[in-house]
Amino acid sequence: MISKSVIKKLTHILGEKNILTKKEDLFLYSHDATYQEFMPDVVVFPKDAREISKILRLANEELFPVIPRGAGSGMSGGALAVRGGLVMAMSRLNRILLIDEDNLIAKVEPGVITAHLQSEVEKLGLFYPPDPASLDVSTIGGNVAECAGGPRALKYGVTRDYVLGLTVVLPTGEILDIGVETAKGVVGYDLARLIVGSEGTLAIVTGITLRLIPKPEVKKTMLVIFPDMLYAAQCVSRIIKEKIVPATIEFMDSLSVECVRDQLPLELPEGELTILLIEVDGNSVQIDKDIRKIENICRQMGITGLRLARDKKEAEDLWKARRNLSPSLQKIKPHKINQDVVVPRSRLAEFVTTLSDIGQRYNLSIPSFGHAGDGNIHINIMLNRDNNDEVERADQALKEIMKLVVDLKGTISGEHGVGISKKPYIGMEISATGLELMSRIKKAFDPNGILNPGKIF
Ligand SMILES: Cc1cc2nc3c(=O)[nH]c(=O)nc-3n(C[C@H](O)[C@H](O)[C@H](O)COP(=O)(O)OP(=O)(O)OC[C@H]3O[C@@H](n4cnc5c(N)ncnc54)[C@H](O)[C@@H]3O)c2cc1C
Repeated sequence: MISKSVIKKLTHILGEKNILTKKEDLFLYSHDATYQEFMPDVVVFPKDAREISKILRLANEELFPVIPRGAGSGMSGGALAVRGGLVMAMSRLNRILLIDEDNLIAKVEPGVITAHLQSEVEKLGLFYPPDPASLDVSTIGGNVAECAGGPRALKYGVTRDYVLGLTVVLPTGEILDIGVETAKGVVGYDLARLIVGSEGTLAIVTGITLRLIPKPEVKKTMLVIFPDMLYAAQCVSRIIKEKIVPATIEFMDSLSVECVRDQLPLELPEGELTILLIEVDGNSVQIDKDIRKIENICRQMGITGLRLARDKKEAEDLWKARRNLSPSLQKIKPHKINQDVVVPRSRLAEFVTTLSDIGQRYNLSIPSFGHAGDGNIHINIMLNRDNNDEVERADQALKEIMKLVVDLKGTISGEHGVGISKKPYIGMEISATGLELMSRIKKAFDPNGILNPGKIF
């Protein structure tokens, strides 16, 4: 509980209109996309690194938790005040400071919305590829903290691959520039890379220098319909074996397809279907060649149908349906346990077959979709949390799925991070020695454990 005298000191640092203490206001900052609820004691809106530094110094004196927050779209509970304390909303640090066409970099504050940065750089013929499905709401700061990635990771990589440098405020209050503004740089330990994906537990990011690349000339989107997931998974392996790297290869299994069938801009055949959404980009000569090759491969794989988007609008509608998939799953059951596991691409077929067996054995609906091209699968165990028996079965099924992922040499999170959701499983993947080293790193950054406590470990 943060005392009245501390609130007074915070008000002095931030000004009265940049601090919330009323219960009804705090409630708005008590959730993220996990739909769990933890009430903070106070929410603050700092304007810059100096104010953040003062708040962190106060937190070390008074020993209260500080939880950085972007848009609250996180899927692992990272922005939740699990031990109460102060939620630090980054919404006032929302400026694009520079887009440098000579050096192909952008400098932004952490509260910039991902899609906004993308559209601004694209106006100049440049490209910032990381594309989480939440890009219309998520912030670049949240993307950095979670090392967000999206469908385009197959060809272009994830947030980590675009972060060159960061300005951070350490939990003890020091303001620090780390990383570089150049394409190369190997001086000292790569602290910027350590902060990327650290889930707001090591430092608060207040400035980000990002690498940009030229925008691909053209892109084309294709929807391919398969009778089942096995055929689709084999097709993905064939495409990659032919040395074609599409910008994205997304899949939706039959349960997922049913949830967005009415949102797709085309009539689908009746019955169970698996869909691949494939996008290729580059120069027009190359992509026409790639499209022809992919079409040939798909047609040899026993597909039910194939459609090349006729124009930009149709391609956008296909992507819209894909992005709406996560919330649309509520048509099956009101709640879900969502995990974003990754398996080696070559083991995708094995994974989805076993997943279906697990679903049947536990009598659970487990729709899956995701980035087939890089083996990143969003599994969704659908349930009603009021049904204790179903919750118990879902927990058992989840344990089995996590074990399966690790046995297949995969990883238990490709995008969403550990937060609080994956804490029980981290030991399945990281050895005791690895975990011990990580907690020593945490201690070196944050000796009093005030920054985002209760996460990851
Ligand atoms: C419908 C939907 C689809 C999604 N699709 C994807 C996807 O395709 N790929 C993907 O990777 N993720 C996806 N996500 C998850 C989520 O959008 C990402 O993790 C995103 O990066 C979170 O950004 P945010 O601004 O909402 O951060 P928040 O949820 O507010 O915070 C996330 C974490 O970042 C920390 N943090 C935030 N800002 C800072 C900062 N300035 N300094 C230090 N730490 C900070 C927080 O403490 C927290 O631990 C999806 C979420 C939803 C709801």
